Amino acid sequence: MYIDVLLQISAFDDKTFLYSVPSNLEDQIEVGKRVKVPFGKKEIMGIIICIKTNNDTNYELKQILEVMDSFPILNEEMIELGKYMSDTYICSLMTCYQSMIPSALKFNTKNINIKYKTYIEKLKDYTSNVKSEINILNLFNNTNKILKSDISNKKALSKLIELEVLKEIKEEEYRLDSNIDACNLKELTKDQINTYNSIKDSNKNICLLRGVTGSGKTEIYMYLIKDVLEKNKTAIVLVPEISLTTQLINRFKCIFGDDIAVLHSSLSDGERYDEWRKIRKNEVKLVIGTRSAIFAPLSNLGLIIIDEEQEDSYKQENNPRYKTIDIAIKRIEYNNAKLLLGSATPSLESYARSKVGIYDLVELNKRVNDKCLPKVIVVDMKEEMKKRNPILSGEASYLIQDRLNKKEQIMILINRRGYSNYVLCDECGEVINCKNCDISLTYHKNSNSLKCHYCNHIETMPNICPNCKSKHISLKGIGTEKIEELLNSKYNAKVIRMDKDTTSTKGSHERIINDFNSCKYDILLGTQMISKGLDFYNVTLVIVLNGDSSLNIPDYRSAEKTFELLTQVAGRSGRSNKEGIALIQTYNPNHYSIELAKKHDYIGFYNEEIKIRKKLNYPPFCFIVAVRLLTNDYELGNIEINKVNNYLKKKLDNNFTILGPTISLKINNIYKFQCIIKYKDKEKIYEVLNNINKHYKNNKIKLEIDFNPIKI
Ligand code: ADP
Ligand code: ZN
Ligand code: ZN
Repeated sequence: MYIDVLLQISAFDDKTFLYSVPSNLEDQIEVGKRVKVPFGKKEIMGIIICIKTNNDTNYELKQILEVMDSFPILNEEMIELGKYMSDTYICSLMTCYQSMIPSALKFNTKNINIKYKTYIEKLKDYTSNVKSEINILNLFNNTNKILKSDISNKKALSKLIELEVLKEIKEEEYRLDSNIDACNLKELTKDQINTYNSIKDSNKNICLLRGVTGSGKTEIYMYLIKDVLEKNKTAIVLVPEISLTTQLINRFKCIFGDDIAVLHSSLSDGERYDEWRKIRKNEVKLVIGTRSAIFAPLSNLGLIIIDEEQEDSYKQENNPRYKTIDIAIKRIEYNNAKLLLGSATPSLESYARSKVGIYDLVELNKRVNDKCLPKVIVVDMKEEMKKRNPILSGEASYLIQDRLNKKEQIMILINRRGYSNYVLCDECGEVINCKNCDISLTYHKNSNSLKCHYCNHIETMPNICPNCKSKHISLKGIGTEKIEELLNSKYNAKVIRMDKDTTSTKGSHERIINDFNSCKYDILLGTQMISKGLDFYNVTLVIVLNGDSSLNIPDYRSAEKTFELLTQVAGRSGRSNKEGIALIQTYNPNHYSIELAKKHDYIGFYNEEIKIRKKLNYPPFCFIVAVRLLTNDYELGNIEINKVNNYLKKKLDNNFTILGPTISLKINNIYKFQCIIKYKDKEKIYEVLNNINKHYKNNKIKLEIDFNPIKI
């Protein structure tokens, strides 16, 4: 027997090699298992890609040394999917495979132990006249199996095992356990039933559900999943952020009990491995998780749901740079399953696709039981500056006090963490920058330190200007810490802050959300983390302190992102029986994204934005790919990106638009040089990009090819 083994021989390159299998290992060979093989003078790991009966080379083959797995870590579907990804995203096959498996199984990682529990099982009846043995046998009166640790007399136990009356068995134990009270599905409203039926009866395999915030999309998901599970099929539900999984998992666990595995980034490697094994062994039928859960190796997949499908976090930002929707579409095709995209604010691309009939479009325009959408108030901060209210507008201050009096809860969003986002010398004008990046350092008051939010460099806050030694240095800009301080000094309120700094420890997300939900706090203050998906019944006021922050980013999607953020944040308010208000502070009150968010007018926004996209030729009217070169050598990068640019211009005609080259700010001592290509012709673009990719293989400059980049 011979096998083709995929080996990663450098970071850029992978290749398959044919090995022979010694006869004693033959019965362990299966595609998708890992093997240890000799390569040069080294022993390395590889994946079995193909089994062959003869040696089609004309030299003698080396033998593999060991089969590492008792079952394939990649099933047939994943083997295929990896090939598709490698071609589509122009990256190595091994990198694609590695992105599908839990890190415990990845190459070059330390071994993660599987935990076992030891049980004693009764094999047959036996009458003993030894007291200690009788005591043990009595434990088996009502059961066949008990924990070994429940038996204290180990000597008597050994004796019974020797007599083949009892037997010791080991069972895998999973680290994550849940104990959530069961509950029933809510009865759907009429609107929900109609929506549910439309999705169920749709003859397309992809549906887009656009439902305003609080329209009960999650309940519809659960009904659809229940149907799928009843047919003995399986389902995956994806959410954009881990902060959202907590609430959602609890809602799902109430209904589906322990038939669920969860996969997200805050699990330990061990927990992740356990969850993955549950899935691989077909012990669960439903998987909930963030982006990478799309690779959950469920068999017999019936449904994939992507909630808040427009979110950037569904795009992987290192190799393989996949868009989760693309992978989902591949998987439903393979499994003959359905894909449901849900959102209050679908991406322009997805909505456009549903308008032309590629996806089926289903819409829910009202909240459950006709609850109103929150009233949105837009405050012009230019006016507030004149009134000397630079941070909290007069209206915001008034409303906060009003809600505190009524014992209703408040959420406040500011998209920057830390205390102030830059430190300025009043004498010489120096701004303290990170030593590795072209980025100003953020002051964190809790630790009295300056932190770089890009490379994590930390230094202590200086007393004098590092440039001119002046003592007059001031803190500029606002972040979550400063707002927290302000709220605490101004109001008699319990404030909890949720940002990267307060959620770095395990379980902290969950704790903050649960504590706020049980009203231990009056105000939840946070970054984007709190902007979407969360469902708190007692929140009636949501404030966005700097509604423009996403508008000021020079990107073709900045209006879309602003509209989306504001709509989502507003959607957190007034979700149960009390009416809610959302207050947005902005310097651009008349911008269409803000005016239309105020009216909750998605369609209006879509119509406006799609005109602009068409005029400027941006997606969905073309595709975009970014070609980047990364290097610490500025001169070299500059020369090389110009070569790339010239090559692109030579190879691509007028049907393509090449923007750039540009250079981004230095991050962690690395410069990023970039060209953007707008294209429609996929075949040609792949031909050109594959050539560039070949050229930069094993080069000291790193090439990044990024399809559908989230920032350009
Ligand atoms: P969405 O996902 O669209 O934002 P949710 O599914 O979270 O909306 O529903 C919003 C709120 O309405 C939740 O608190 C949910 O429990 C409640 N809800 C949804 N459907 C129903 C229903 N049919 N009957 C009663 N309450 C419902
Ligand atoms: Zn100075
Ligand atoms: Zn830095």
